Amino acid sequence: MKKVLITGAAGFLGSHLCDRFIKEGYSVIGMDNLITGNLKNIEHLFPLKEFSFYHHDVSRFIHIPGELDYILHFASPASPIDYLKIPIQTLKVGSLGTHNCLGLALNKKARILVASTSEVYGDPLVHPQNEDYWGNVNPVGPRGVYDEAKRFQEAMTMAYHTYHGVETRIVRIFNTYGPRMRLNDGRALPAFIGQALRGEDLTVFGDGSQTRSFCYVADLVEGIYRLLLSDYSQPVNIGNPDEISLLDFAKEIIQLTGSKQKIVFRPLPADDPKQRQPDITRAKEILGWAPTINRAEGLKITYEYFRSLPEEELKKEHLVFANKKGNGMSK
Ligand code: NAD
Repeated sequence: MKKVLITGAAGFLGSHLCDRFIKEGYSVIGMDNLITGNLKNIEHLFPLKEFSFYHHDVSRFIHIPGELDYILHFASPASPIDYLKIPIQTLKVGSLGTHNCLGLALNKKARILVASTSEVYGDPLVHPQNEDYWGNVNPVGPRGVYDEAKRFQEAMTMAYHTYHGVETRIVRIFNTYGPRMRLNDGRALPAFIGQALRGEDLTVFGDGSQTRSFCYVADLVEGIYRLLLSDYSQPVNIGNPDEISLLDFAKEIIQLTGSKQKIVFRPLPADDPKQRQPDITRAKEILGWAPTINRAEGLKITYEYFRSLPEEELKKEHLVFANKKGNGMSK
């Protein structure tokens, strides 16, 4: 039985990856320090003998006994509301955490896939963004802690590939949504649905003309699965090219939820990207992958998930860390 380590296992994407690899017959080791994740996302896996879990900060040395075939490095705060609160941990997990995972891959002769992001393109001057575009990132802006950590992550991963010959894969993930997202993670989709469910007006930043392209989580997981099993070591965009302005998206959510509320406008946060759309030519050609779930379908499933949450989840406005130092991590 092949063994895979998934870091960030208790998070939104990590938990779906755990499900997928269990389903494919792998033995899965989840690792997470629970700083933005939630054990509820993987509690259904705990009874399985194919699943084990380590509560561990990957920015510290990682030890896994025995053999390991694959590593999926997904640990990292992912939404601005999180990484602006824990900027240093974000930089550390993208740099030191990635270095630890790469060292483990080298030691175990395992193949490693790292989760990069469309944020490496920053506020892009090329549209749509293909993998050959180098990006437009402000290193000292508020989002720099995330964007630059991910850019460093890619550089370090490539160095392990070229210098040490480690089998590496880099996925550049574009906005993904689906069940197990946190309602309070600050991203547009859960924010809009949360506001609609609470009967509040929907807040759009700027004039709402900035665009996003949303990919349903099952499509993303399929793309990642294919990339891991491919022999391609350059970065690959995985996302849904179906682009929409945030204003139109807010209108879609109002329609979906039957909300009676209106849309209100607030000032645009610093360095908010104006447009985002993946060019997925490479994923199509190399992995034979394209998204299959359209926004109407994906949103319906996601809305049902949010609606099924207990009432108190709706009231949580922002992430409250169990401990201000971030679960014992050094600042
Ligand atoms: P998430 O916050 O739900 O999950 C991240 C998980 O990593 C959490 O469970 C958190 O507790 C854990 N974690 C953070 N720091 C850690 C550390 N030092 N040690 C161990 N665990 C740690 O976020 P997500 O949306 O699931 O994102 C997962 C990965 O995918 C991230 O690397 C993110 O950058 C990347 N990504 C996500 C998206 C998206 O749309 N969701 C887009 C681009 C990239």
